[in-house]
Amino acid sequence: MTQINIAIAGYGNLGRGAEAAIQQSPDMRLVAVFSRRDPASVELLDSSVPVHAMADIEQFQNDIDVLILCGGSKSDLPEQGPDLAGMFNIVDSFDTHAKIPEYFAALDQPAQAAGKVALLSVGWDPGLFSLNRLFGEAILPQGETYTFWGKGLSQGHSDAVRRVAGVKSGVQYTLPSEPAMARVRNGELPQLTTREKHTRECFIVLEDGADADTVRNTIVTMPDYFADYDTTVNFIDQHTFAEQHSSMPHGGFVIRSGESGSDNTKQVLEFSLKLGSNPEFTSSVLVAYARAVYKLSQAGETGAKTVFDVAPGLLSPKTPAQLRKEML
Ligand code: NDP
Repeated sequence: MTQINIAIAGYGNLGRGAEAAIQQSPDMRLVAVFSRRDPASVELLDSSVPVHAMADIEQFQNDIDVLILCGGSKSDLPEQGPDLAGMFNIVDSFDTHAKIPEYFAALDQPAQAAGKVALLSVGWDPGLFSLNRLFGEAILPQGETYTFWGKGLSQGHSDAVRRVAGVKSGVQYTLPSEPAMARVRNGELPQLTTREKHTRECFIVLEDGADADTVRNTIVTMPDYFADYDTTVNFIDQHTFAEQHSSMPHGGFVIRSGESGSDNTKQVLEFSLKLGSNPEFTSSVLVAYARAVYKLSQAGETGAKTVFDVAPGLLSPKTPAQLRKEML
């Protein structure tokens, strides 16, 4: 089997998850990891894979079929993406939804000029959820699409509770509202407010001597983060916190509720994810799409692309004939 030569740029949660997903893909080989940190300080799962300085990446253009960008969406990808799109076929998980059109344009120009493919905003949201929003709307044009997130750990909200005076450790989970989802699944087309769609749940370890009521009140009234939601605050000990709240679960639901035919028959399309680890799943999606990027590039495609532009068969290591036989 010819193997696709993959490299990873940026080694955080996604980088580690991508390495693990490549290990599960016999048609791929991880040839290098690039980091802005001292390469000697970056420990991979497989110590035989070389870590290089990101500053030297230009020298590796002939060795890499697809580069998986695992930097953060806020400041890493907007800076690294356009540079790297001019040198490599790339795939990333850029998730600042409002800025996707702008980021697409920033990748398209260098990728076109270099004759490379730049696939952006791959993952679950944006990514698999986007595809399911598209399916719902295209198939049931008369209706509404609803996205519910959770149960999931929110990094930004967890940071916010940890900044509250008296909090020693804290996490925040976003939960979809069961009554709201039941209405949607029932074929109603409700207009849901922010408060009606999701609830928030915090698990807090207090500093010695801190007052629980004061901490709870500071959290639930915090503008922008909690004031618009129904929030439950649970106080637990450090041991329970370490044991039960150190993974990064996430997930959610895309539901299209629509009507078809002349009798307005109700139709509900639902896609859901329940993820034990958000970064491990996101990087598994990235690795499957890296395979598609390789095939698109081999077929002579160039420029920026999103999940909407990639045929699903390209994600699989199987041939089109195998897929027709086994999966249709
Ligand atoms: P991390 O913060 O773990 O990693 C981001 C970058 O930070 C790494 O590439 C790495 O770059 C650097 N870094 C990591 N660890 C350290 C460290 N110990 N010290 C200093 N620098 C470090 O982010 P995640 O991997 O969890 O997530 C990356 C992005 O993925 C998120 O910003 C999010 O936007 C996106 N995402 C997208 C999803 C989707 O569905 N589309 C879902 C989930 C996440 P370097 O090696 O160069 O230092």
